[in-house]
Amino acid sequence: MNGLTKSTRMLIGGELVESEGGAWMDAINPATEDVIGRFPAGNDRDVAKAVDAADRAWPQWNAMGVAARAEAMRNFGRKILERADELLEVEVRDTGNTIAPMRGDVKHGVASIDYYAGLGYELKGETIPATPDNLHFTVREPYGVVARIVPFNHPVMFATARTAGALMAGNAVVVKPPETASLSALILSEIAREALPPGVFNIVTGTGAGVGAPLVRHPAVKRIAFIGSAGTGMAIQRMAAEVAVKHVTLELGGKNPMIVFPDVDPQSIIASAIAGMNFSWQGQSCGSTSRLLLHESIYDEVVAGLVERINAIRVGDPMDETSQMGAINSKVQYDKVLNYIEMAKREGATLLAGGQRPTGPGFEKGFWVRPTLFGDVTQDMRIANEEVFGPLLSVMKWSTFDQALEIANAVDLGLTASIWTNNIDDALGAARRVRAGYVWINSVGPHYPAMNYGGYKNSGTGREEGLEEMLSYTEQKVYNIALRR
Ligand code: NAD
Repeated sequence: MNGLTKSTRMLIGGELVESEGGAWMDAINPATEDVIGRFPAGNDRDVAKAVDAADRAWPQWNAMGVAARAEAMRNFGRKILERADELLEVEVRDTGNTIAPMRGDVKHGVASIDYYAGLGYELKGETIPATPDNLHFTVREPYGVVARIVPFNHPVMFATARTAGALMAGNAVVVKPPETASLSALILSEIAREALPPGVFNIVTGTGAGVGAPLVRHPAVKRIAFIGSAGTGMAIQRMAAEVAVKHVTLELGGKNPMIVFPDVDPQSIIASAIAGMNFSWQGQSCGSTSRLLLHESIYDEVVAGLVERINAIRVGDPMDETSQMGAINSKVQYDKVLNYIEMAKREGATLLAGGQRPTGPGFEKGFWVRPTLFGDVTQDMRIANEEVFGPLLSVMKWSTFDQALEIANAVDLGLTASIWTNNIDDALGAARRVRAGYVWINSVGPHYPAMNYGGYKNSGTGREEGLEEMLSYTEQKVYNIALRR
């Protein structure tokens, strides 16, 4: 075994521990299929211990007050940065994502910790003039224990950026990392142990069934924050509702449209359509604009340019700074992508680029797929409706404004949308009608600081990344005080 990290334990109640059951899981490098480490296969007893530890820790953490919590969190962020290179290498080898853009993940996680550390004084309530003879006001209180379940595409970023709001609000967290990319969580365990009081930040590694489900079902976990697929999100809502009334937020998948109007220069759109696919993480991004909706007048020219550019994408070793696309994260995900490619061909879509493994040295093993372009995709095809979460771009043709919006809104998901035109009426009209939570006009891809991110329809419930996320980790208590003089 080529052990990539010496870290092998998860964090429960301030202690670095193995699983109570003594079981382990292998971490696989998707580019080589080598075993690069192992991590504890946690179970329901580990979850119970972590939740108990969090439940004991949060009252004191909350009582420290905003300034002291913010300082502890900023210290956590500084310590993460000290080990940024190590985290980056582990994350790249464990996820298959390319190294150059992945540099942003650790930085973004720490920036988000700093952002929420600075927002603490916004944990405020309201005074309400409900009656003249009472003083009416509200205060915000933490839920207590927050479960944070993380997907495989950006594990360390989500485990840091998407726990910061909960921590700042005075909660303790139990993080469940993705089982196909858990190694960075073991390093994070060591860092959190040094930086935060025992029990405030816990990490339990393992499978969805072994760790995720017992965490969702634990009666002391009132607040569940999930990032992952729509199917798992619905299962979590069901499981949670079987046990208790819980506050569940879901950040789920996308089948996002990029709508291009006829006034746009066809050549100028090609690079943006590729950028919108996030090929540097093999298209494995919830926000990827995997449906390119082109007006019929520019369809041929854009598609011809796309074929050329997509065929030129350098797929290769994720650790190589010049690679533009790496390996699919796991065998399961790889098989799913290949399955969608075959399905799209059977359904009558035209394969224009990619569609198979790259060949030659470096590709003998590993979960590789060339970036893939399908043309002539129509709404009746599954490829037009279902999230692949892989490097598959589908191009569809439209002729009228209404038809473009009909296609854009024809799917069950509604996370992001990107609209390209120089006509303000078309731009704002399309933005108003599209059923998606995050809209770009004449750009695609970036998440902006403090801007709420989240989906319509089956893409989720709740919003993250802004003030609202932090407030969503609080409950409101109402005070009514009789004024007797
Ligand atoms: P997934 O749903 O398979 O797994 C996500 C996490 O849930 C993993 O940690 C997994 O172990 C856990 N899990 C699985 N079954 C569970 C269960 N029954 N109970 C509790 N936890 C369980 O998703 P994935 O394949 O890791 O990630 C890809 C998905 O995530 C895509 O659909 C993508 O669009 C979505 N995603 C959404 C966002 C967003 O912000 N909206 C961001 C990134 C990824």
